[in-house]
Parts: sequence; structure tokens; C-alpha cells
Amino acid sequence: MKDVIIVGAGLAGLSAGWRLRHFDTLVLEADTRVGGRIRSERRGNYWLNWGGHIFAGDGSSTDALLREVGVSAVAVPGTLQAMSMNGKLLKSGPIATYPLRIPMSLDARLATLKAGLKVVPAVLKYTGVVRSRKGESGAARQQRIYDFMNAQSFHDFIGDLPEDAAALFKTTVTRSAGDMDQISAGAGAGYFSLVLGIGQGLSRGIVGGPSTLTEALAASLGESVQLGATVHEVVQKPDSVIVRYRQHGVDHEVEARTAILATTADVTRRIAVTVPDDLRAALGTVKYGPHVSSAFLTNETGPRPWDDIYAIAAPKRSFAIALNHASIVRGTETVRQPGGSFMAFSPASLGQALLNKSDDEVTSTHLRDLDQVLGHDFASTVVEAKAERWEVASPYCFPGRAAVQPTLMRGASRVFLAGDYLGTLYTESSVTTGFSAAQNVTSIIATDRQSRRIVAVPSQRETA
Ligand SMILES: Cc1cc2nc3c(=O)[nH]c(=O)nc-3n(C[C@H](O)[C@H](O)[C@H](O)COP(=O)(O)OP(=O)(O)OC[C@H]3O[C@@H](n4cnc5c(N)ncnc54)[C@H](O)[C@@H]3O)c2cc1C
Repeated sequence: MKDVIIVGAGLAGLSAGWRLRHFDTLVLEADTRVGGRIRSERRGNYWLNWGGHIFAGDGSSTDALLREVGVSAVAVPGTLQAMSMNGKLLKSGPIATYPLRIPMSLDARLATLKAGLKVVPAVLKYTGVVRSRKGESGAARQQRIYDFMNAQSFHDFIGDLPEDAAALFKTTVTRSAGDMDQISAGAGAGYFSLVLGIGQGLSRGIVGGPSTLTEALAASLGESVQLGATVHEVVQKPDSVIVRYRQHGVDHEVEARTAILATTADVTRRIAVTVPDDLRAALGTVKYGPHVSSAFLTNETGPRPWDDIYAIAAPKRSFAIALNHASIVRGTETVRQPGGSFMAFSPASLGQALLNKSDDEVTSTHLRDLDQVLGHDFASTVVEAKAERWEVASPYCFPGRAAVQPTLMRGASRVFLAGDYLGTLYTESSVTTGFSAAQNVTSIIATDRQSRRIVAVPSQRETA
């Protein structure tokens, strides 16, 4: 019997696997690669990226994981707050002044400022809400974050706005993968705090690309990671868990003392057939939105005006944001090296509009807009372009989401859940929940081992 079976080799499953690597562990991954929604590929000094790209900093679970594994991450050197709208690219100055500097009608400007007067205090309040309090558990803090302004949508909170004013808010809030009428007011405020790096921002990039981390984690687990292994049923018994999966056309059944389900909530609900009904029902309420992303490798030979920018928000475009992944390379060089790497991604309804388009249509739509945003003949420098669609891209916090959190966190006695849908911090939630599932598994295995030793003791005495 295995000690633990981990279903899913995304960041959550691999983080759990890392902490459990000295036990008899089996990781079952349906895809032909590890990493799940983390996906980057190296190209010389650069990397193409299609998934999660910016990570939590000092004191976070991600920080602990990176240090343990020995993978380097750096504070992203370029600005995270550039914006291009109505023909103007802003990359410096306080973000609060953007509505005054972006060309737009007086009506739209006044409406933006009025809505801003609601949003700014909510963002500041959120910053207080997320702050850790002495002696409290991570779960208590997470519940407080879900509870914050969870009764209404962000759209209802700011009200109807003229197109340009709405576009300014939409481009940030929808990066959560939910549209303004889908995401809660508190989560909208939280997203501003997150992307602006106020309080608990995601602000670190992984040197060499995010897959450096997931591949390093998988390497530490060696043959314990099985690819192309699709789990279809996880059954909890009194003292063990039975996992049924199919790999290379062959059905397998394996038994373990414990299991960690590190799949998205929809998959977990489908395969965890014996978890309590209220937990399955809670899993069914989790909502995800789509992302469609394109990665572009470029071959420019000299400096570009965007070398000191990491993220450019792009209201009223086919993508919400463009990311200069070469910014991390720029931060390490003394002389500007040739080449670069960009990513554009379309979340929520922008992503929905592209989900069924061909790869060529996705990359050409993104490239057309990116060329207009950046100018300077950007498109003529592109030497490689590749698209990726994520139908289940990111979980978003909808009005009422807070109420199901206690049920989701309860888990079952030998089956533990991990994944970003259990928290509000994306990759950081994946790592935190992976670590805590690993901790639960470790203590159950410890108890099982001690009980076996206790059973062995009388027989030793009898033979003495
Ligand atoms: C375009 C994009 C940009 C993003 N940007 C950021 C960002 O900048 N910062 C950030 O923090 N987050 C970001 N995210 C979100 C981040 O990528 C995710 O929160 C995180 O990677 C989720 O990891 P996970 O392990 O919880 O889930 P997943 O990565 O989804 O892992 C689940 C794994 O389970 C496997 N699986 C599914 N079904 C089965 C089955 N039946 N049997 C076996 N295996 C199965 C899947 O193949 C997958 O590998 C972004 C996401 C996208 C798509």
C-alpha cells in the first residue's frame, strides 16, 4: 500500500509532493506534462509563457517553496502599472492620475473619478482585511478575505459607467477571469490591491520561466510522477483510499493510506465519489472563468521603449494585459542583449470570445492589438507566436462565495483537497493548500505507523 496518492501535478499537487517526497508517494497526472496552469518554454535567454507568471514574495508559502527547492525568483524589475488606452501609453506617475492623463471625454473622466472615490477606500480597507493578525490561522484570515464585501458584485458596487470609464476598471478586475458583474465587490477591490502590489501583491518572476519551478519539483519526485494517468474515481475506505485511473489505455487500481486531490474543483467533485454530499455540493459552486493567451518571441537588436515595463493594461483591446517577460532578463544585464518575449492574455468575456478561434486567429488578433499598443514596428520583430486556451483558467470570488468556504476547508478523513480554488491568491493558494494537505497526510501516516508499532509490541514481548 502507498502512503499517499496525489491526483494532479499542477503547482498544488507538486508542492504537496515535494513535502512528501520521502514517503512512498505516487503522483497521477492526466496531461503529458506537469505544471497544469503553469506553462513556460525556454528560448535561449528568454522564455515563452502562457500561464501563471507572477508570484508571491517574502514570507509567503511560495517563497518558502522556492527556497527549499533552490529555484531563484526576483522582484520583477519593470513597472507593473503601465497602461495603454485611446492611443496613449502611460508608464510612470501615480496610477490615480491615469484617468486625468488618458484621452477621454469629460463625462467619462468625471465618472471615473466618482467611481474611483468608491474604489480607493475599498482597496485600502481590503489591505487591512488581508493583513495577518497575531495568533490567527491562515484559514481564519482566508475566510475574512472571502467575507469582505461579498454580498454584491463589483459592477453593482461601482454602478453603470460610460464606456471609457468602465473600460478602465474592467481591464484590471477581469484579470481575475470573472467579469465585473460576476466577481464580488470585495474581490474586485482585492484585485486592484493585488495587481498594484499594495499590501499583499504578486510581484516576483521566476528566473528562466515559471516551469523551472514545476519541473524542478517533478524531478525531485522522479518516477513517482506518472503522466497520462487520468484518475476517474477516488473511494475512501475506513483505513485507506482506493484510486482508479487509466494510463496508456490500461485501467489501474491502487490503494494508499491517504490521497490528495489537487485537481480543479469540477474534477475533484466528479472523482471524489465518497466525500460528504455537502462538500461535493460546495465544490459544485466554485466558479472559473477562461483565459486565452499568446506568447511572442522577438528578435530586435537594440533597446525598446518598453524595456523597463513588465505589465501593460490595455482597456478596449482583445487582451486585458500584455506582459514583457524579458523584463526579468533586462534586470540582470549590463548591456542590452538582442531579442525579447511578450505575452498577451484575454481573461473572462475577452477570453470567451477567443476560446473557439484557431491558433492563428488568436495570435494574429493579439498581435494586431499588441502592435498598436507598443508601436515601433513590434510585429515585424516577432519570430515565433503560439497560443494557449484555458477554459478553466482561474477561480473567481463571486457574491456569496464566502458561505461555502468552511465546507470546502473541512475535507474528508483520509482525502485532502488542494488547489487555487480554496483561496484568493492563485499560485500562492495552490502552494499553501498543497503544503497543508501534505501536513495532514504526514500526521495520518505518523499515526498509522505508531499504531502498527503498538500492535507489534505485545508479540515481541510474547516471544521474549
Ligand atoms: C493565463 C494565466 C495567467 C495566470 N497568471 C497568474 C499569475 O500571474 N499569478 C498567479 O499567482 N496565478 C496566475 N494564474 C493562475 C495560476 O496559474 C493557477 O492559480 C495555478 O497554476 C493553479 O495550480 P493548481 O495546481 O491549483 O491547479 P492546476 O494547475 O490546474 O493543476 C491541476 C492538475 O490536475 C491535472 N488533472 C486534471 N484532471 C485530472 C485527472 N482526472 N487525473 C489526473 N490529473 C488530472 C491537470 O492536468 C493539472 O495538471 C494564471 C492562470 C492563467 C491560465
